[in-house]
Amino acid sequence: MSSDELSSPLLAESAAARRAVLSGIAVSSGIAVGRAHFLNRRRNLAEAKRVSPRQARRELERLEQACLSLALEFEEAKGLLAGNALSPAGQEQADLLDAYVMLCRDPKLLNTAGDMIRRERLNAEWAWEQAVLSVAGAFDKLADPYLRERAEDVRSVGSRVMERLRGERPRGPGNSSRGEGGEDGEGGEEEGRIIFAHDLTPADTLTLALKSVSGLGTEMGGHTSHTGILARGLGMPCVVGVSGLEEAACEGGLVIVDGIQGFVIVNPDERDLQEYAERQEQFLRYERRIRQEAKLPAETGDGERVAVYGNLEMPDETSRLLSLGGEGVGLYRTEYGYLSRLDLPTEDELYEDYAAVLRAMRPRPVVLRTLDVGADKSLGGSQPLEEANPALGLRAIRYSLRRQDIFRRQLRAILRAGAQGNAALMFPLISGLRELRQAKSILGEARQELDNQGLAYDRNMPVGVMVELPSAVFQAQDLAAEADFFSIGANDLIQYTLAIDRGNKYVSHLYQPLHPAVLQAIRLVVDAGHAAGISVCICGEMASDPYCLPVLLAMGLDEFSVTPQAIPVIKHMIRNFDAEELRELLRRVYNSSSVRITTRLIRQHIYGRFRAELDFISQLSDAEH
Ligand code: PEP
Ligand code: MG
Repeated sequence: MSSDELSSPLLAESAAARRAVLSGIAVSSGIAVGRAHFLNRRRNLAEAKRVSPRQARRELERLEQACLSLALEFEEAKGLLAGNALSPAGQEQADLLDAYVMLCRDPKLLNTAGDMIRRERLNAEWAWEQAVLSVAGAFDKLADPYLRERAEDVRSVGSRVMERLRGERPRGPGNSSRGEGGEDGEGGEEEGRIIFAHDLTPADTLTLALKSVSGLGTEMGGHTSHTGILARGLGMPCVVGVSGLEEAACEGGLVIVDGIQGFVIVNPDERDLQEYAERQEQFLRYERRIRQEAKLPAETGDGERVAVYGNLEMPDETSRLLSLGGEGVGLYRTEYGYLSRLDLPTEDELYEDYAAVLRAMRPRPVVLRTLDVGADKSLGGSQPLEEANPALGLRAIRYSLRRQDIFRRQLRAILRAGAQGNAALMFPLISGLRELRQAKSILGEARQELDNQGLAYDRNMPVGVMVELPSAVFQAQDLAAEADFFSIGANDLIQYTLAIDRGNKYVSHLYQPLHPAVLQAIRLVVDAGHAAGISVCICGEMASDPYCLPVLLAMGLDEFSVTPQAIPVIKHMIRNFDAEELRELLRRVYNSSSVRITTRLIRQHIYGRFRAELDFISQLSDAEH
């Protein structure tokens, strides 16, 4: 779909104009106002109803009429476009309208629905929905990515026909949402495309980044689900876990995504729009201010210095990370280079990506995390494995040890790229010494191969362990003896310590970074690392959370690797804290056995320091406090 489709009044169709405020989990801050566009829509609006033979004929006519009128409107819209010389974007839009017209007249769709109406005497809405699901589902299964995208077109046309069947008057060319309010009406020029979905795969989210999307909302997802991580990396406001989204919003309807407080407002009124415009303005002013000091060192008032790095998902995010004051890349999630394509990247392609990041960041450090696929991230083109408990299954280092061909190729690329900058590598989800040794032994073999081939590579690249599992916490002393550094993957550490699926909205209230058990686990890892003389970084989303920062700093973490958009506020806060005071706070936190009391203690401390800017700091925090 073209990002220009909003400029076609017909494509920006109406929503039933009922205002609704839906709450969810804010996972990427900021506010976006725009038109809703659904991906992978799952809602089942239609109810099956038996009809009389006479009524069946009427149902058939209703359906044909709905399809025909939509086709005519698409043709009319295309006619308006064709009056002008078409730019490439305009041409894309015209092609899209052509494709839509064909779908409105598509015999397969119409016959499938028509048969159901005639033979089974079912109502038009139900029959149409079944036909759309079946045809879109067939496209979904095709291997060719271009053809698979057609599934989206089928759903899109399907939902527009459905709206006509349900009597929701679409806005035609003369009464489009833009037309009604004039150029500045209802969000005017500022409007972007807001993507709503039941759920998004990492690959979906990555593709959206290329399509000038300004905000995201999903029904599923929790605090540290991958949709949120990617949205934050892209600086795109995002709310997940929004129940009722698919029922409340319509394709093309005006919506606000409030990624600060975790709301989606469907069909906002004038007051909403004005209020959000003001809040956005204030927030942007604050952000601009703290960004000005983002390049200063992260040093507390009493002179203790830590490093603040950024988490990176795609190679082209380095300049943003640097401009936000990132002192390096503490976590490069290399799997996204695999997830955004259907085939496997070659060693040379991987090398180019890694070398580009290393060169852009030089002399700053870049920590490349080896492939973390499995669970909710399945490798390009492959279907997820059938596992009863994917989060406890074949993911991360387990996958790499099983698919040593893929692992070896990546290790060779990382080692070779290391010669271009200051690289380290780390293994995700290490559960104990055995796995670490196995992974290091394959790394040793990859080095040997490169030596044999006479290829240049980084011979001294540090090798770290991501501590993300309770077993690794308990074995931290042993692991520290064989690792060059630790990096705490707090997202998974919390998930596995508390047994809370990080992407499950039904238990997201139990996902508590400040849980005493989580804090004790981090404390054990930091102490074991320091006793062995290695540095300890924290790179889960907890590191980006202003409310967790005081305790993490006081625990003695050496490095924080945070989502790029949080770098300025994290550095700003560190510079305004006093390390000695934080250690006193930590003593009290260790004495607390409840998250509520811990949170209150931290809030009080933050309030004392940042009273005037508390609102904005809360806005930059992902978690609920
Ligand atoms: C983590 O688990 O904290 C982490 C940084 O890795 P990911 O979120 O990619 O699993
Ligand atoms: Mg992890």
